[in-house]
Amino acid sequence: MQNGWEAVIGLEVHAQLRTKAKLFSSAPNGFGGAPNSRTTEVDVGMPGVLPVINERAVELAVRAALALGCEIQPVSLFARKHYFYPDLPKGYQISQYESPFAIGGGVPIELDGESRSIPLTRVHMEEDAGKSIHDAAVTGGEVTFVDLNRAGVPLIEIVSEPEVRSPEEAGAYLRSLRSILRYLGVSDADMEKGNFRCDANISVRRTGQAELGTRVELKNLNSFKFVEKGLAHEIERQIDVLQEGGEVLQETRNWNESAGESRPQRGKEEADDYRYFPDPDLPPLRLEEEWVEAQRRALPELPHQKRARYTAEFGLPAGDTRVLTEEPDVAGFFESAVEAGGDPKTVANWVMRNLLAVRADSGCPLGELPITPQHLVELLDLLDSGRITATSAREIFFEMARSGERPEAIMRSEGLEAVSDVGELEDIAKQVIRDHADQVEAYRAGQEKLFNFFVGQIMQATRGKASPDAVRAILTQLLAS
Ligand code: ADP
Ligand code: MG
Repeated sequence: MQNGWEAVIGLEVHAQLRTKAKLFSSAPNGFGGAPNSRTTEVDVGMPGVLPVINERAVELAVRAALALGCEIQPVSLFARKHYFYPDLPKGYQISQYESPFAIGGGVPIELDGESRSIPLTRVHMEEDAGKSIHDAAVTGGEVTFVDLNRAGVPLIEIVSEPEVRSPEEAGAYLRSLRSILRYLGVSDADMEKGNFRCDANISVRRTGQAELGTRVELKNLNSFKFVEKGLAHEIERQIDVLQEGGEVLQETRNWNESAGESRPQRGKEEADDYRYFPDPDLPPLRLEEEWVEAQRRALPELPHQKRARYTAEFGLPAGDTRVLTEEPDVAGFFESAVEAGGDPKTVANWVMRNLLAVRADSGCPLGELPITPQHLVELLDLLDSGRITATSAREIFFEMARSGERPEAIMRSEGLEAVSDVGELEDIAKQVIRDHADQVEAYRAGQEKLFNFFVGQIMQATRGKASPDAVRAILTQLLAS
């Protein structure tokens, strides 16, 4: 950022809750499927129907808010937020407005080795809208299609205070929030599928200035990378405007990734007047303290708590703890392997270097790969006891990940058992020495670097299966004589 300026960012995240049914109807909540196949009278806004709140959605929302350290409100209200759009047949969206179910709390972030918490204003529940499809490739021309499968899907909106200070912090915030929601099983939190969406509010001010500048709301940020790029670009744009003596307009802008710039969508004058009022069809949402406390007790260990524990219990470096805890299945794999007797740092290295690579290649979730933590520990035992070399261990690992076979079985079927039989290695070493009389002479004349040449020859002859320590000992002896 340019000297003398600072950025002020506040984030609004919408996360779809992982329920079977929608927030106020029994229609199934899911991704994809034939257009308008997942709707009931309630979702299409027929007159005379009544919404009924989905208890499971409330439970998931409360769980998320508790994990974020929010204060749960004993009574909250649903309101009607009016606007007119083809994908909103009722003419209003049911949301929480003046009276959300959760306030305060924060999102823990870690950036450049420093930890802090970005404070939250509120978390509230609302229903998602349907989708308008303008794409001519789908509609065949100058018409718009409406798909109401998404209408009524339960959402939580998580609103931060304007206390995010940089695009990188915004990225860290979103990664942390996604990770927490996934740990809780509250949301798939997958930006690509649109079940985790972010609007970013941004203003700039002179460093040290107390009051906030005029903000712009940035939309259409479809990946974490776009959020960071969009924000960085918007910060520069606003600073340029102010430095040229201009004024930042309060407006909504759309990020256009292919053009690498934001474009105005609507200004303050055109800002919507939502005419909120409490929904007369829905009673106030009352949450019993006892029930809330039971939800709190049922929370799993969260990523930042795991990070602290991995440091304290296993002495792992910060980089490792961050990678291992970002996703619950990776953390679970690591912990199971350590429980099965694996050395924590060794397991951490194998998970980070090899397991994550295998998963990335396969494109499947970890749980669908046939490799188990138990098998990794068995592999590490084979390596530890010298029955396989490090090279073979990697080979066996990739085969394990593919076939789900146990490491010992692969070692045998692939003939990867280390050659540490001294007699056998001695024979190979003698042959190598016979075959390379010139090099032996040079070595003995003082070219000590050639030692590794002989090691390499033996490794080649054994296809990497010779135990390096044994090879060194034998060579030292044979070349000296
Ligand atoms: P709205 O109801 O229009 O969405 P809110 O007051 O709820 O507006 O604020 C939305 C988001 O904008 C919050 O995350 C808040 O922290 C952030 N925000 C508010 N003022 C500013 C500002 N001047 N600069 C940057 N972000 C801001
Ligand atoms: Mg907003």
